[in-house]
Amino acid sequence: MTILIAHRGASGYAPEHTLCSVALAYGLGADFIEQDIVLSRDNHPIVLHDIYLDQVTNVAEVYEDRKRSDGHWYARDFLLAELKQLRVHERGLEDNSGPIYPKRFPYKKGKFEIPTLQEEIDLIKGLNQSTGKNVGIYPEIKRPAWHRQEGADITQFVLQVLIKNNYRTEADNIYLQCFDSLELKRVKAKFNSALPLIQLIGKNSWRESADDYDKMVLEAGCKEIANYAVGIGPSLDLLYATSSINNSVIPTSLANYARKYDLKMHPFTFRKDSFPLVFESYAEMIAWFTTELKIDGFFTDFIDITKKLVEVSKC
Ligand code: CA
Repeated sequence: MTILIAHRGASGYAPEHTLCSVALAYGLGADFIEQDIVLSRDNHPIVLHDIYLDQVTNVAEVYEDRKRSDGHWYARDFLLAELKQLRVHERGLEDNSGPIYPKRFPYKKGKFEIPTLQEEIDLIKGLNQSTGKNVGIYPEIKRPAWHRQEGADITQFVLQVLIKNNYRTEADNIYLQCFDSLELKRVKAKFNSALPLIQLIGKNSWRESADDYDKMVLEAGCKEIANYAVGIGPSLDLLYATSSINNSVIPTSLANYARKYDLKMHPFTFRKDSFPLVFESYAEMIAWFTTELKIDGFFTDFIDITKKLVEVSKC
């Protein structure tokens, strides 16, 4: 079975990580809904993609004088009650001159707030009860080493919430993801967790962790990942290349190593409004990943369209 993971909720249609976006993703047929998690000053796991508040909230207006010397407003500097005063909006460019995706939800419109992890779980489990479906959660521990520098063990707080809500094993319909390999190993070794872990693989330039992703994509890297994780979540461009013979799209060695070491592949991010030009259309891209690469899951901003294309590709 191929799973459809709602990347930051139905973020192609509503501001990312808002409860509205989660409910919409649920209604559009997501199998799993993703939560990126950072900590508030009072150690509440909240659902927010960046450690900064800058690009998705009105923090600059509400707490004008509380940015750090680097010019960023950090979620970690605010109590949950203070974060709840903020309005969330469609993601803006770094200089806040406008939205990243102008055709998505209108920039700086709507009334949305930052949810806690618990609030999102309550919503998803509530909908599971009322619909009889069983949609899963897919939390990501964000920047654990940075949180430690800030004096907080984010993993401990996230796991507390997950355990309290009876998320313990793969049977509970959850994957736990992180870019930091040391932290995933720690989830197993220190916390004795049986949660299925996904090793995210990005680019070294993103500085998501101290890991060397150039090495992680090699055979030894994948063999090592198989010791602690059930799968990988690579940036999707790490999985294809173009053939020097006829320019056709071909799998990279990472895809082959993932198969060899029995690692699930859940690449990110499939966006119908932003996809690599080696594919002629979004439909062609989804077809290639479904039939040629046979990936196990799609992280997508557009659950409904992607799901339909996956189904069509399999026919
Ligand atoms: Ca994420």
